[in-house]
Order: sequence, then structure tokens, then C-alpha cells
Amino acid sequence: MSDCIFCKIVAGELPSNTVFENDEVLAFHDIRPQAPVHVLIIPKRHIPSAHALTAEDAAVLGEIHQAARQIAEQLGVAEQGYRLVTNVGFHGQQTVPHLHYHLLGGRQLQWPPG
Ligand code: 5GP
Repeated sequence: MSDCIFCKIVAGELPSNTVFENDEVLAFHDIRPQAPVHVLIIPKRHIPSAHALTAEDAAVLGEIHQAARQIAEQLGVAEQGYRLVTNVGFHGQQTVPHLHYHLLGGRQLQWPPG
């Protein structure tokens, strides 16, 4: 999508600090980190949110989860644990309408979120 900032990052039109990339998935550091480790993992193909997923997206979801495991190991948060979360829509506080999973770690996270 031409006006999607994450599509622009995928296309190389906006910069990002990449931590993982393959044919289907890109992951980069969040510009406003909420934890010592805060990475966004996205499908390269534009999918608006988790609510828009269909059975055809099963493979890319698997890729995202495998990427998350690799990134958590790479950035040293796998042993202590981390959070993998996706916000959906207005009440879910989704601000970028391109599916993304936040990988947060490196400190004790709280539950429930606000
Ligand atoms: P959401 O609020 O939709 O769940 O998460 C969007 C995330 O994208 C936020 O944590 C925000 O800091 C991050 N973000 C927004 N614009 C950019 C950008 O241009 N580059 C990077 N790296 N992160 C961004």
C-alpha cells in the first residue's frame, strides 16, 4: 500500500534498523522502544491487522513465530522470557495499520496491560 509506513520500510523508502529478514518477513527495532528489547516483526505483504488474517496467511504466521524465536535468541531475551503481542484496531491501540508483532523483553513486564 503506497501510504503505509511499514510497506515503505519494506520497500526501502524509509529507513529501519533491521534485525531479521527473509522473503516473507522483516523485523526491525521500534522507533520508540518500550523495553530494552522492542522489535517489530511484520509480514512483507500488506495485511491490515490480525483481524484480517485468513487461512491463506497461515504460512507467513508460522514464519513470524519462527523469526520471533530466532530474534529472541539473537538479542539475548529468550532465557528470561519476552512478550509477543499484536494490537488490533482502535481500542487495541493499533496505530500502524499493517500487521506487526511487538517482541518486548529485557525487563520484567507487567500484566495486565493498561
Ligand atoms: P501499534 O501502536 O500499531 O501497536 O505499534 C506501532 C509501533 O510502530 C509503535 O510502537 C511505534 O513506535 C512504531 N513505529 C511507528 N512508526 C515507526 C517507524 O517509522 N519506524 C519504526 N521503526 N517504528 C515505528
